[in-house]
Formats: sequence, C-alpha cells, structure tokens
Amino acid sequence: MRLPVVYYGHPVLRQKGRPIREITEEIQKLIEDMFETMEDAQGIGLAAQQVNHALQLTVMDLRGVTDRPSALFIQDQEVPVDEHMPMVLINPVITPLGDVELGPEGCLSFPEIYGEVSRPGEIEVQALDRHGKPLHFRCSGLLARCIQHETDHLNGILFIDRMPTDVRARLKRDLDLLVSETKRSLKKPKPWKAPF
Ligand code: ZN
Repeated sequence: MRLPVVYYGHPVLRQKGRPIREITEEIQKLIEDMFETMEDAQGIGLAAQQVNHALQLTVMDLRGVTDRPSALFIQDQEVPVDEHMPMVLINPVITPLGDVELGPEGCLSFPEIYGEVSRPGEIEVQALDRHGKPLHFRCSGLLARCIQHETDHLNGILFIDRMPTDVRARLKRDLDLLVSETKRSLKKPKPWKAPF
C-alpha cells in the first residue's frame, strides 16, 4: 500500500526515531509499504519519518541509478552494489571515514528542491537487515551519500541542515513557501461525515 509522504514543516521530520527492538509483522508490512511508496515517487531512499513513523528504519534502492557510482565493501572485499539492493537498514549507526565532499541531493519531503550537501565520501555502517541479521560494511559514492541522508532523517536531521550557507540562502524562499503550505494542510479540518 502506498503511504502519504510528509513534507518539510511536518513535525515528525524533526523527531528522532525509536530503535526497533523486535521486527514484527507490522514492521515487515511497513517495509513493504515504504518500498511501494518510494518506487511510486521514483526515489532512491525513504526513511520511516517521511511516512509519519518516528522509527529507526530506512529503505533504499539504487539499482535505477547509472550516472552516479557507488562502491560497497564487506570485510574489505568489494562486492557488487546491485546484489545488496533493495536495502533495508534498521537501527543504523554510521562512522565517517573519508574526506568531506560536496554533492547534489534531493528529498521526497522537499518536492522540486535540490542543492549541494557536504558529507564524508566514505562511511562504515552497522545495522540490522529486515530479518534482524547484523550488517557491517563500508561504502562510498552515491550509496554512502544516500545512507547518510536517510540515517540523518532517522535522527531528525534534514539535508538542508548540511547545506553550505549560500546554497541554503538560495533556497530560502522555496523552503519558506513549503513550510507554510505544509502547516496550512496540517490545520485543515477533517472532512465532515454525515452521521448515517
Ligand atoms: Zn530525504
């Protein structure tokens, strides 16, 4: 089932996600729904906060991307990225390794808004997969950028927080507009239902 994506200005995007202690049927269903929502929106990553759940859960799929390379290393052996897609990360913890790089990013919670964001070019990741199996790997390129973007969401951090001041200043008008639209839509009264 496709879920509504929340936009910037919705308070859940600033909430830190609760760690997932048990991967229940409800969590599995949420993972399926998040994949369906992400594919429908043509995104490469989606965090639980973006579908109004403050949880440490994110899904990703980079298979459709051909113009921005990624590398993935398990126990220092490079492995094909596509073989590990689609990817589910539960309770992820990131350790930055590489130098900071500037790269373009967008976000499904910020329609039509894009900008350059500074992030370490390489990271180490520890998380659980959707079956609760521990994952431990190192990655770089787009995959490292995407995982950092999504893990930030799980901690209430947004890509605009990591933009250089001039990039963010250029987007200010669009961001202000988006916040006011989101706030207005949150205030809308529920549709009246006839009592019969
Ligand atoms: Zn995002």
